[in-house]
Amino acid sequence: MSSRILLVEDEENLREAIKLNLEIEGYEVEEADTGMKALKKTEAQRFNLIILDVMLPEMDGFDVCQKIRITDSDTPIIFLTAKDTSQDKVLGFKYGADDYLTKPFNLEELLLRVKVLIRHSNRGKPEAEQLKLYHFGGNEVNFLTFKAKGVNGIDVSLTKKEISLLKLLIDRKDSVVSRTQILQFVWGYDVYPSTRTIDNFILTFRKYFEKDPSTPRHFHSVRGVGYKFTE
Ligand code: CA
Repeated sequence: MSSRILLVEDEENLREAIKLNLEIEGYEVEEADTGMKALKKTEAQRFNLIILDVMLPEMDGFDVCQKIRITDSDTPIIFLTAKDTSQDKVLGFKYGADDYLTKPFNLEELLLRVKVLIRHSNRGKPEAEQLKLYHFGGNEVNFLTFKAKGVNGIDVSLTKKEISLLKLLIDRKDSVVSRTQILQFVWGYDVYPSTRTIDNFILTFRKYFEKDPSTPRHFHSVRGVGYKFTE
């Protein structure tokens, strides 16, 4: 069983970016965009960790945290917030948070903290392996091991960025993903590579997964807009 995370964030782009990266790490992610929805989910299900934005419509993250803690003192909670005054940190911990990240934060750092908190709360429980395989056009991608079988059965080891981009395109199968979305989702807030970099990733994917890379069936460029994956 993979660990389950509740992600509470009202900014859609940020929520999607965090979700994608958590899923690549093998977590199962439930989303909520308001405090009330988050509370409903925590009442109905168990999570291994909760990522909680502070500035939410209607009910803020501090209130949500306080309410969760009335019945559940164990599930680790990480606050995300634009505020970085020490008073807010104190408040967050007072209401029962386990950790705190100030926006804009580094996605890698969030993933690391998630991993540490889940490991602490799971101590003693074995981590089960879960296969996450995806097949298309005779290719196979394993999102957990970052290994793939490409055209003519060649073995490919993918980098973390390649896996992120593949997952994004596959999740959005048949629709165009813009360059901006790709940069935001795969590279996060802080490191913005040139758009040439994305082109090079796509060329690499074609080399790995297209029978004829010069007339791609799966990885399409849409001039001036972005990229599209089709099965
Ligand atoms: Ca917010």
